[in-house]
Amino acid sequence: MQTLFVSDLHLSAERPDKLELFKKLLRGPALDADALYILGDLFEAWAGDDDRTPPHPEIISELSEFTLAGGCLYLMRGNRDYLTGQQFVLETGGQLIEDPALIDLYGTKTLLMHGDTLCTSDIKYQIFRRVVNNRFSIRLFLLFPYSLRQKIWHGIRNITRKTTARKLPYIIDVHQPAVERIMLHYGVFNLIHGHTHLEAIHEFVLNGQTALRYVLSDWYRKDGVLVADKSRLRMMRVEEFIRTQ
Ligand code: MN
Repeated sequence: MQTLFVSDLHLSAERPDKLELFKKLLRGPALDADALYILGDLFEAWAGDDDRTPPHPEIISELSEFTLAGGCLYLMRGNRDYLTGQQFVLETGGQLIEDPALIDLYGTKTLLMHGDTLCTSDIKYQIFRRVVNNRFSIRLFLLFPYSLRQKIWHGIRNITRKTTARKLPYIIDVHQPAVERIMLHYGVFNLIHGHTHLEAIHEFVLNGQTALRYVLSDWYRKDGVLVADKSRLRMMRVEEFIRTQ
């Protein structure tokens, strides 16, 4: 009885080894798990559900095989793949979950998020997100032909990459008051998110109780998976996790 959480795999043609690792996870221990949660940024870029840039078709068929074989897949959109829609869900057999999502993790109320909405010190990013990531903008953007969407996406990526490199660490990280606000709002003492790539387990006091914030690692260097069972949550390396199963 295990539930797995990953995020920020940023799968693309540039890093085929990470796609192989993901396949090993899907064909291996993830199939035996109660569920696999992908908390956003599975893809480096996703210009819409008709995005067939390699290795996207391969990833879709791999996920589809996973769910057909009985794997339970939950998907949350990240800032790189916020244009993920119903077609992707149908093709993969996964279930799209909202951000934030409240789940019962073996008896513990747990909040799941991608994490970008917690970075409230980054005001420029929050404004950008509000402009592009809303129902109206998404619908409008998806009306553009795919080739144009792809060009715009890559243009935006290059700009954000440059500006992110200039930002101070505290700006890039989550803002603790934002974390506490949402945890209090949902009445939870456990939060799991990704996005910042700053893998850690943060313990703090919330309303006189111990609260925990699990930050998932990316799949650039650390290739993390958070493994939950009835008794504990463990941050593991995917390779190590596959080996020990
Ligand atoms: Mn992200």
